[in-house]
Amino acid sequence: MGRKLLLDKAHIPGIRYYDTYRGNGGYAAAEKALKGMTPDQVLDEVKKSGLRGRGGAGFPTGMKWSFIAKPEGVPRYLVCNADESEPGTFKDRYLMEFIPHILIEGLIISSYTLGANTCYIYIRGEYAWIPEILEEAIADAKKNGWLGKNIQGSGFDLEIYVQRGAGAYICGEETALIESLEGKRGNPRIKPPFPAVKGLWQSPTVVNNVETLAAVVPILNIGGEEYAKIGIGKSTGTKLISACGNINKPGVYEIEMNISVEEFIYSEEYCGGIPNGKRLKACIPGGSSVPILPANLLFKTAKGDTRMMTYESLSDGGFATGTMMGSGGFIVLDEDQCVVKNTLTFARFYRHESCGQCSPCREGTGWMEKVLKNIETGKGKMSDIDLLWDIQRKIEGNTICPLGDAAAWPVAAAIRHFRDEFEWHITHPEEAQVRNFGLAHY
Ligand code: NAD
Ligand code: SF4
Repeated sequence: MGRKLLLDKAHIPGIRYYDTYRGNGGYAAAEKALKGMTPDQVLDEVKKSGLRGRGGAGFPTGMKWSFIAKPEGVPRYLVCNADESEPGTFKDRYLMEFIPHILIEGLIISSYTLGANTCYIYIRGEYAWIPEILEEAIADAKKNGWLGKNIQGSGFDLEIYVQRGAGAYICGEETALIESLEGKRGNPRIKPPFPAVKGLWQSPTVVNNVETLAAVVPILNIGGEEYAKIGIGKSTGTKLISACGNINKPGVYEIEMNISVEEFIYSEEYCGGIPNGKRLKACIPGGSSVPILPANLLFKTAKGDTRMMTYESLSDGGFATGTMMGSGGFIVLDEDQCVVKNTLTFARFYRHESCGQCSPCREGTGWMEKVLKNIETGKGKMSDIDLLWDIQRKIEGNTICPLGDAAAWPVAAAIRHFRDEFEWHITHPEEAQVRNFGLAHY
């Protein structure tokens, strides 16, 4: 049984409420930080832990925090990115819905470390029932002296506000989120300057994902060095994975980053295997933005090593034979799934969510959707496959924000690994409407 640091108390009835959370050791980490540590000492623990951003990019959290500019007389902000919109990803929702106080506690410690007296939780519009849960948790934390002025006599002041998004995927991109918080259209900004230097209202701002900020609580409880002992190499600690698709036990799992992909899919502790005796066809392990990997590349890396659930192992081999950890939105496809259709579904999503600021993304996402639709509906030509390849290449790396790459990578990976399935759709247009290609390329 893997160690649980975020979900260890999830089974306790009423853990959603302050008294139960506090009665089970909650707010001990905040107490430790505010009463006995300087902000630099907390930062040091976070650095020692090796914690990396859990939203998808995996950027070292301690390093990001140390980048925050500290000009005299200018406020600093902490923004919690709860705009979890990546298809296949629903781990932050679980934390906020069932253990909201671990997030609030993490926000208090992180704000204290950064010297931020105001913190915003920006939450996706579709999570319509969760702001109330968070607001209740914030009110209870305040009633018990964990928010407001002079928290627990530490001299530190903090207010946390919940801001509801309106349902745009792009507002999960940190600079679009900041624009939206400022009351403007959620258009990403060009970086640099990074938010750590010029963020919300041009002030130094750290934007971190929900899970990242919650993870600060166990880091302080057990110590950064102890946290870093879990996992492999630079993939330290535990990671929440939201598992979905063709598996027996979809849900949110906390894993130590030292188990294999095969164990995650087949063990009873996690996904419990593929239903109805079907065979595994492919997997998208990090949310829709990361490359799809066929089953024959999923369990072993190109070097022949066991593929592990770590940032490094999942991306081993680059995009030729690897993929990415991303946000931990783990999507499993069995032999009945059509890769062309799956790719079209993602392409439609990205075309719809593109903010339209840059032409490679605005035009390219629409173009990829049209070409994919032609192939999927039996109207494609062989040259369309090369056309698709060409379009995605012209998007990648040529846009303001990562949405362009996120739209391009799934198309590139689908062609790279399943080109024969695309060709079969084109050579068998009528058959492709009534049956799937299956596993014929293995
Ligand atoms: P990024 O690599 O551009 O940045 C990572 C973080 O590090 C940012 O906060 C950035 O400001 C900071 N940073 C990087 N270099 C810096 C520097 N020199 N100085 C100061 N700060 C610096 O990636 P990103 O745009 O934050 O995230 C992209 C990822 O988000 C994608 O890979 C995708 O997996 C993921 N994603 C997640 C969801 C979700 O719902 N969880 C949705 C869409 C995308
Ligand atoms: Fe907007 Fe797409 Fe450009 Fe991002 S890449 S700024 S979503 S047009």
